[in-house]
Amino acid sequence: MTLNKSAENIVDEGAQHPNCPLCATPGGDWVFNCSKFRVIEAVDADYPGFLRLVWNDHVREFSDLSREDRMLCMDAVVLLEQFVLRVFKADKANIATLGNVVPHLHWHVIPRFTDDKHFPAPVWAMAKSGVSLSSRQQWVLDSKPKWMLDLRAELLVAFPG
Ligand SMILES: [Zn+2]
Repeated sequence: MTLNKSAENIVDEGAQHPNCPLCATPGGDWVFNCSKFRVIEAVDADYPGFLRLVWNDHVREFSDLSREDRMLCMDAVVLLEQFVLRVFKADKANIATLGNVVPHLHWHVIPRFTDDKHFPAPVWAMAKSGVSLSSRQQWVLDSKPKWMLDLRAELLVAFPG
């Protein structure tokens, strides 16, 4: 399938690190890639629409990027945040870069709903018991093929290179 082929191609480019899962695999369902970064959907059962921006080169820290690349990266994170708020109608967008488990630069952009499994705690906190997907999260899951195309189109306009 075309999407998978594109996703495989991006991992052959740039600086790679042995045994790094984000160098070896796209890291989720592929949405978009340009020369510097890619965007994937994390395929988290509790958080449909959980997006990640993954820097294509194996870079450990955000401050390892040039100023120009940091600005490019933040412009893209902002686009993702605005998409999550506008299209998913999230109550809050959470953005974070941790990299403790996989030290390859990536940004999490997470649509949060007041009735999701962890709100108001971070998604990495202990989950509330007995909470399933909210109706809005179910909508995000069900409409994934559509919004993935819309998001790809927005990213292509903003980051053509
Ligand atoms: Zn890597």
